[in-house]
Amino acid sequence: MLNTFAASCDARPSGRRPLGTTGFTLIELLVVIAIIAILAGMLLPALSKAKAKAAAATCGSNHKQLQLAWNMYYEDFDSRLAINTNWPPLANIDRTWCAGWMRVGGNFQPDSVTNENYYTQAIMGSYFARNARLLKCPIDKYVQPGMPAPVTGMSFVRSITMNVFMNGGSAFGNPVMGSLGASLVFRRATDIRQPAENFVFTQEDPTSIDDGVITSTIDAPGNAGNRSFNNRPAATHAKATTLSFADGHVENHRWNQTTLSSTIDVPVTASATDAIWFKTRANENFVP
Ligand SMILES: [Zn+2]
Repeated sequence: MLNTFAASCDARPSGRRPLGTTGFTLIELLVVIAIIAILAGMLLPALSKAKAKAAAATCGSNHKQLQLAWNMYYEDFDSRLAINTNWPPLANIDRTWCAGWMRVGGNFQPDSVTNENYYTQAIMGSYFARNARLLKCPIDKYVQPGMPAPVTGMSFVRSITMNVFMNGGSAFGNPVMGSLGASLVFRRATDIRQPAENFVFTQEDPTSIDDGVITSTIDAPGNAGNRSFNNRPAATHAKATTLSFADGHVENHRWNQTTLSSTIDVPVTASATDAIWFKTRANENFVP
């Protein structure tokens, strides 16, 4: 009997399995695939969270350096804040900290989508060693639909903008919105009573960013416009964003309400809680 079995085994061509058995049945294969899918499903959110955390750390460090540059700038200029003019062309980069307009529509300047000179060569550039990388979030890969040639499919070169109330200028239009906006702009560091409560830089929502200024409508107390965003800060760090403040500190702030816009998280425009949080930090004089 043993001999017969051994003989029949030897008769098999090498590498083949005994008749009647296979490696996996279809069911077994499906079970394995399902288990892999479940494990991947558990891992992917953790991975994207880790990615967002890493980006928040990088952006935190970038904001810190940029913020330090802003503080050094006014110390060199008798407490006068860096000019924050909206959308000048490249020829006028001596009139602002950041020129250009990257978004299709409005004051679109196609060259500014990819050209870092629009801010590295502007008035604050030497204060941050003209390091273009400081103004781009590593996970901001958003591409605005409808970008014309030669910038078709290109992601914006910059993710960071400056609070309009930090010496927001109007040489090329009026960036300060709302009936009270213009009267509340800080011109000198000494105008800011609570530097730890007023932000200077933030990462702007890639579906909102255009020029170097992030605007906030500020009207009389009780006005509905006070409870919604105009330009929106980002929500790309796992529903949070980075902001740096006039005293030099940096925060990663998580929004209460975000929504998915095409592929990225954005703050809900009419989220009163989030808009009021943001505007209170855009200007210490803001009353909702
Ligand atoms: Zn970022």
